Amino acid sequence: GDVGQLFSIDESLKELAQLADTAGLKVVGSTYQKLASPNPRTYIGSGKVAEIKSAIRALGIETVIFDDELSAGQLRNLEKSFGGDVRVCDRTALILDIFNQRAATHEASLQVALAQMEYQLPRLTKMWTHLERQAGGQVKGMGEKQIEVDKRILRTQIGVLRKELESVRVHRKQYRSRRFSVPVPVVSLVGYTNAGKSTLLNQLTGAEVLAEDRLFATLDPTTRRVQMKNGNEFLLTDTVGFIQKLPTMLVAAFRATLEEISESSLLVHVVDISHPLAEQQIEAVDKVLSELDVSSIPKLMVWNKVDKVSDPQHIRLEADKRGDVVCVSALGGDGLDEFCDAVQSKLKDSMVWVEALIP
Ligand code: GDP
Repeated sequence: GDVGQLFSIDESLKELAQLADTAGLKVVGSTYQKLASPNPRTYIGSGKVAEIKSAIRALGIETVIFDDELSAGQLRNLEKSFGGDVRVCDRTALILDIFNQRAATHEASLQVALAQMEYQLPRLTKMWTHLERQAGGQVKGMGEKQIEVDKRILRTQIGVLRKELESVRVHRKQYRSRRFSVPVPVVSLVGYTNAGKSTLLNQLTGAEVLAEDRLFATLDPTTRRVQMKNGNEFLLTDTVGFIQKLPTMLVAAFRATLEEISESSLLVHVVDISHPLAEQQIEAVDKVLSELDVSSIPKLMVWNKVDKVSDPQHIRLEADKRGDVVCVSALGGDGLDEFCDAVQSKLKDSMVWVEALIP
């Protein structure tokens, strides 16, 4: 792992296992190694390679997933060392798989396809060096030529995808500006994956948004109208969950989802306060938010799953101390009125502020 990351190795591996489960894999075990620097050939040392190899034999393992990004060479060498049909992949490829499984709209599918191609581009060597070896080095030049051809095809496809994505976005922007002509404020839910954003959206609106105990249940922005008891309305938008070590490439690929955030009147940061790493998750989300152009948007924090914490009283006191925090149980429906009130007063603050600017 990288130095100075927010999560410990164990925590990061646990999340990787959760991701693998989300992708439909059955996790049989995990291991790690501390090295001064990664082995350039195989990422891990030769002893560790041998250890994993015997585990593969003993347990009939089909896939080995690395928590950090591997180079094309490392992937190739590891697959060769492990032998047989063992698939080696890294966290990025796994997340791309999940995104691919869960892309619900045309735009999301295009984004995922684009990210997958960009991921493949530097890793294209694999198949052809393999062929070269089979042919005993006879076709050396040919293999290289073929890689160039493949890369050119891939680059062309990437270009086509980018154009298509751009036109889909223009479409969505037009739709959005129409939506904005109606004076209904937009409230965006952001937060760590599994924090309970979909559940909150469902509870408030009765919308049928997929909520499950898996990572990335939400991939596309989903917007619903929420009517409050006093008759006021706001639009509530769900966004894709944040995750630690989300590769920059994926953040870029999901720009459209994140762009939506920068046009909202209020950001609601949903936190699973019962999670042992709640504080780190808050930090991870704040870090991503600070990289987006959202500093001027008012924020409200929701501490969700208070029904699951051992000392709710203490949590409520902490929330009061911190300020701008509402405690809820999205699942049980506790605190939803308080949540709507807080949204209302936050929106009112920002409206007054806007009105003050435009006399
Ligand atoms: P999202 O990824 O942020 O959209 O999270 P989901 O809404 O899919 O919720 C993730 C999991 O947490 C689901 O299994 C929910 O049932 C569960 N969950 C959500 N809110 C609460 C809550 O207030 N209390 C408890 N105990 N579980 C919750």
